[in-house]
Amino acid sequence: MKKKIAIIGAGIAGLTLANFIKKKSEHDFILYEKQESLSLEEGYGVQLSTNSTKILNMIGFNKIDNKKIFHPKAIDFYSIQNQKICDLDLSQFNTKENKYTTLQRSTLIEFLKDDIYTQHLRFGKK
Ligand SMILES: Cc1cc2nc3c(=O)[nH]c(=O)nc-3n(C[C@H](O)[C@H](O)[C@H](O)COP(=O)(O)OP(=O)(O)OC[C@H]3O[C@@H](n4cnc5c(N)ncnc54)[C@H](O)[C@@H]3O)c2cc1C
Repeated sequence: MKKKIAIIGAGIAGLTLANFIKKKSEHDFILYEKQESLSLEEGYGVQLSTNSTKILNMIGFNKIDNKKIFHPKAIDFYSIQNQKICDLDLSQFNTKENKYTTLQRSTLIEFLKDDIYTQHLRFGKK
């Protein structure tokens, strides 16, 4: 049975759910966001584990422009005194399809809002 779904909050979680409903079901949905717009400021990065890229790839994230994303192979951890504590080999978690990924938060939001924006998103609604 076709349902009417209200999603509260157009953050990464709300937008991802909206994409799944839109692409994988027949249900009607509206996304209610209390702010007046989506924050698309550049400057903030976001790191996506392989689990999250696996989920996002189901809604087409693997077709995103390769120049806009980066797959770091390792992370070094340093103390505030600039002494290395340890490192982590990120590539061990990668598969061919799903890789640890970093990108600008705005790029991810742009991708997630593409299919959702006008029809399904209501701003200034708390
Ligand atoms: C500096 C910083 C760096 C971060 N870096 C990372 C990272 O690299 N990787 C990572 O996975 N996570 C990171 N996080 C955590 C990150 O913010 C979350 O992973 C992600 O944004 C959570 O998305 P969300 O949709 O759950 O919540 P949010 O992004 O907080 O979205 C919630 C939305 O709901 C709206 N809202 C709230 N209440 C209502 C209401 N009553 N009615 C209508 N709308 C409402 C808000 O306005 C907001 O737009 C970081 C957080 C910070 C602060």
